[in-house]
Amino acid sequence: MAKYTGPVCRMCRREGEKLFLKGARCLSGKCSLEKRPTPPGQHAATRKKASEYSIQLREKQKTRRFYGLCEKQFKGYFNKASKMRGATGENMLVLLERRLDNVVYRMGLASSRAQARQIVNHGLITVNGKRVDIASYLTRKGDVISVKDNKNDKKVFADIKSGAVKVTVPTWLTFDAEKLTGTIAELPAREDIGEHIEEHLIVELYSK
Ligand code: SF4
Repeated sequence: MAKYTGPVCRMCRREGEKLFLKGARCLSGKCSLEKRPTPPGQHAATRKKASEYSIQLREKQKTRRFYGLCEKQFKGYFNKASKMRGATGENMLVLLERRLDNVVYRMGLASSRAQARQIVNHGLITVNGKRVDIASYLTRKGDVISVKDNKNDKKVFADIKSGAVKVTVPTWLTFDAEKLTGTIAELPAREDIGEHIEEHLIVELYSK
């Protein structure tokens, strides 16, 4: 499936939920969903009651868009999760959380997952001292994630270092704002993933 290049706020309006795709704008009064909380499209308001399938589909689309993945990538995580021990839905979410771009976002080094992906792709991040420029890199417990020394002075990081941007990280991560370094203290558990996702609907959809 081709990469979506249209207006990202439209995706939030489609899912009827904030997906936090635009960084600081999402927390401001400029959020498009707050201004226009209706689905996009001419006949959106007249749509009939949602079927079971469409509820499952919307949950899958919402989650896929949260993490900024195309269908093929997203399904790949489901397939991998279904071969692991335990609940497939939970396994899938944990795998998604462990992606390097997501970890960079969770550590507050980027204001959105899209920005985090760009930061990783541009080679600004190291894992255990080695440069990693693959956004889908799967982090492990104990991994040390840092900003490359010579990139510390970039504005986005300088603001974090100086304390101008406050960072709150989830409990499974640690982060030292001054050193721009964090660790994967624990692999995330389901309850650590704050987003409102009903993963059982995704499992049901893919299991049809
Ligand atoms: Fe979604 Fe952010 Fe746009 Fe609001 S500003 S609609 S949360 S992407």
